[in-house]
Amino acid sequence: MSGLRRVLVANRGEIAVRIIRACHAAGLEAVAVYSDADEHSRWVALADDAAHIGRSAAQKSYLDPDALLKAARSTDADAVHPGYGFLSENGGFARAIEEAGLVFIGPRASVLERMGDKAAARSAAVAAGVPVVPGTEPIAEPGDVARLADEVGFPLLLKAAAGGGGRGIRPVTSLDELRDALPAAQAEARSAFGDPAIYLEKAVSRARHVEVQVLADDHGGVVHLFERDCSVQRRRQKLLEEAPAPGLREETRQAITAAAVRLAEHVGYRGAGTVEFLVDGSGEFYFIEMNARVQVEHPITEMITGVDVVAEQLRIAGGEPLSLDQASIQRRGAAVELRINAEDPERDFAPTPGGIEALRLPGGPGVRVDTGITQGDRISPFYDSLIAKLACWGEDREQAYARARQALAEFHVEGVASTAGLHRRLTADPELIAGPVHTTWLEERLG
Ligand code: ADP
Ligand code: ADP
Ligand code: MG
Repeated sequence: MSGLRRVLVANRGEIAVRIIRACHAAGLEAVAVYSDADEHSRWVALADDAAHIGRSAAQKSYLDPDALLKAARSTDADAVHPGYGFLSENGGFARAIEEAGLVFIGPRASVLERMGDKAAARSAAVAAGVPVVPGTEPIAEPGDVARLADEVGFPLLLKAAAGGGGRGIRPVTSLDELRDALPAAQAEARSAFGDPAIYLEKAVSRARHVEVQVLADDHGGVVHLFERDCSVQRRRQKLLEEAPAPGLREETRQAITAAAVRLAEHVGYRGAGTVEFLVDGSGEFYFIEMNARVQVEHPITEMITGVDVVAEQLRIAGGEPLSLDQASIQRRGAAVELRINAEDPERDFAPTPGGIEALRLPGGPGVRVDTGITQGDRISPFYDSLIAKLACWGEDREQAYARARQALAEFHVEGVASTAGLHRRLTADPELIAGPVHTTWLEERLG
């Protein structure tokens, strides 16, 4: 008895394609949106209807709440799926959708406001009895900074409460450096995220990034879909993710998934969300943030559990209970996802916008490709440089990696540089294959 009928997909690229497919599978209509640059895109072609929302610059289209709300109204949509990035964790946007009488496919606006703010989310974790990295509240008084830093200890990180996507984090190793960096970090956070709040967090060295996928409905149902390891990062951005986390002790897995569920229950979470942790060498884990939306790397969880995360988002938003309980969620095999970006590893990963002159995508058993691009499209300088995500499943981790290598051998793109070559090296790297690696492993490798 889904209350939904027609969903506005307030995003672009591969995630817009993913959501449109889920709408159609659920018998719902999907409305695409597009900026000037995206008029002839794959997601517009797949949707039942489409609305132009503005200029190519994201601020004038995908980040413009009024333009999206207007698009929802003019196309008679009754729900809005925000995808990831853009306005997906913007409480004001969620509130505007709710106030317009439409369904925001995500948590309630009040919960989104709390969990979208990393400092507030830390406090919620503490209140839920979930261990956090030692750290502080947002710094209100610069005069307090020496005392606070002393409590946390160096090296530490300055973190923007509103930051995301690897941006808004600065490492600091001494008090002098901290005193210099704090006002600059606050000014930068204000201009980049519209919120100057900065807090301190202890830098945990040689930790792994392990995150737990959760789903919660409006009927008290909260489940987890196990964990993903996203330790292969560059500049705090994920490049390769896998599920389950290799070599994680079963007792740690049980404790970390239980902690994620506890937090979701504590805040009255609704929808799909991810609770991110750092795990140190001794297996201790510490909450870092919650991503209150679908994540880029959700396909590998779908592969090991057989649960369709976006379909569950739609069910929950329609007021239905989750289609499964915890006992019915089993994991099988292993999966690895490679983010292929239009970036040049030879030039410090500079984005390489341009025309996609040729594109050959892999396939075969256990290989899933998520892309918003078709041969002949342009990778625009205005947005994320993701070309495609290759997610590869195997009965075990060895087979998943073997299929990833095969998929990468088939993958071919012309017209832009890409990270495919880096992924070919990574998926054959003895240290990564032996696993697990920590979050600065790749940067140490790249030098
Ligand atoms: P995930 O945790 O799902 O892997 P990422 O952190 O890589 O997600 O972010 C997903 C997308 O959202 C990326 O395109 C990233 O650039 C963007 N993004 C995430 N958070 C923010 C933010 N606060 N402001 C702007 N863009 C963001
Ligand atoms: P974002 O919102 O940009 O995703 P996160 O807080 O999730 O920010 O951190 C992104 C990455 O930065 C983590 O995956 C990890 O590699 C690194 N990081 C974050 N906090 C810490 C910390 N306290 N100590 C060490 N590394 C950290
Ligand atoms: Mg994060």
